[in-house]
Amino acid sequence: MVYSGSNMIAFQHWTHPMETPAHLPKSLWAATAPEAIGAGALPGDLDVDVTIVGAGFTGLRAALVLAQAGTRVAVLEAGDIGWGASGRNGGQVNPMLPFNGPDRLKSLVGPRYLDRLAEVSLNSADELFELIRTHQIACDARQNGWLRVDHCRKVQASSRANAERWNQFGANMTYVSGSDLHALTGSKIYHSGVLAPKGGAVQPLALARGVARAAHNAGAQIFTHSPVTALAQDRNRWVATTRKGRVRSHWVILATNGYTGDLLPGLSQTIIPICPVQIATDPLPDEVIREILPKGQTISDTRRVIMYARREPDNRMVFGGHGKMNRAGEIVGHDWLIKDAMRIFPQLRGVDWSYRWGGTIAITQDRLPHLHEPKPGLLVGLGYNGRGVAMSHVMGRVLAERVLGAAPDSLPFPVTPVRPIRFRGSQMLGKGLAIGWMKLLDRIETAIG
Ligand SMILES: Cc1cc2nc3c(=O)[nH]c(=O)nc-3n(C[C@H](O)[C@H](O)[C@H](O)COP(=O)(O)OP(=O)(O)OC[C@H]3O[C@@H](n4cnc5c(N)ncnc54)[C@H](O)[C@@H]3O)c2cc1C
Repeated sequence: MVYSGSNMIAFQHWTHPMETPAHLPKSLWAATAPEAIGAGALPGDLDVDVTIVGAGFTGLRAALVLAQAGTRVAVLEAGDIGWGASGRNGGQVNPMLPFNGPDRLKSLVGPRYLDRLAEVSLNSADELFELIRTHQIACDARQNGWLRVDHCRKVQASSRANAERWNQFGANMTYVSGSDLHALTGSKIYHSGVLAPKGGAVQPLALARGVARAAHNAGAQIFTHSPVTALAQDRNRWVATTRKGRVRSHWVILATNGYTGDLLPGLSQTIIPICPVQIATDPLPDEVIREILPKGQTISDTRRVIMYARREPDNRMVFGGHGKMNRAGEIVGHDWLIKDAMRIFPQLRGVDWSYRWGGTIAITQDRLPHLHEPKPGLLVGLGYNGRGVAMSHVMGRVLAERVLGAAPDSLPFPVTPVRPIRFRGSQMLGKGLAIGWMKLLDRIETAIG
């Protein structure tokens, strides 16, 4: 932290690494989403009640709730609307935190927050689909269910037991196996799994642009190509500095997730950024795709190096999985995913994968989303661990409710200190090296059956 003058505290100046993002990567979503509202860079100084850094799902949902409540709000985004993970993800709406069962969650947060987190996460898909209906957002939204399939017999019993435990909180999941599962998936690789009926899919960039439009219509000001390079406190106001202007406000919400830099010292040290990848085909002929996910559920498997997939209404297939960033800053790993897609669905052999892209997400040490309030008037919400499509919308709403007066201990997420991950550098290195090892373990278990 830099102290400059008696009554001003300034966090270190920082340059967003994607200062001039020229365009979105070649994603299916960028090619098919409706136009975004025309938002330009912040042209000069501005006074508002709340400044939000980041125009992904978290920041945009917070902006919408705040603007609807009559709050003056400005969103500052380094790239375009949905430029980060929100415009690049798999679009799977999974109503569950990344915990196999509630017991681990209870051991981390205790019974009070277990009940709250179970409630918001299991209802998160309903909340999102309701938001989409209310604002009539055209984003191919469908709530056909999510299939979580077991990659080997070893996990069958525990995944069934965990589903039953979640059902005690109202998850309403059903066990599916054998020919019933084969008929739902169109794959002979998986023999058992659970169906979560509230899950579904969206076109994520269309959703981000739709929420931005709703927030704009409610009165929020959204500025793109406006990276915040410094955040300072001047008397009882926060000052966010961009290239051409500064925004002064009583509150600041940092909604930067996997793209978090050093705007708030130590914050980037609380997450491990990782880069999943996506691939998509063009619309496929009926004879190729007929049997694959015929009822339109989304699917993901239980492997350590996960695969998730969806079939589009226009007969495209979209897959997601692990990737990585190479030294040149490019996200790679698509070729492995293509091979994996053809192993699971041999019907796809020989098809063209027209779209390949990726993005960055935030992994937290405890796999929980984090809500911080490190200083009066400064809020942070991040760390969805790859399950953020629905959950980041919940977080955005909750951050807005905090600004609007909700007490910290009434929130569904515990308000935690900004605590850097110990030995983060080695953990990041370890995670990179461990991917190969995890793939090997997955392969052995899958082969054994
Ligand atoms: C390839 C991929 C697949 C995924 N698949 C799924 C899925 O199927 N289901 C699911 O639930 N989740 C999925 N996720 C995760 C999900 O996309 C994220 O959890 C969610 O979008 C996070 O939203 P956010 O608004 O918090 O962050 P983001 O959407 O990443 O937004 C953060 C924004 O902050 C901006 N920013 C950062 N620093 C600054 C600054 N200094 N000034 C101004 N702006 C700044 C960035 O430019 C960025 O646009 C996936 C993610 C990826 C990358």
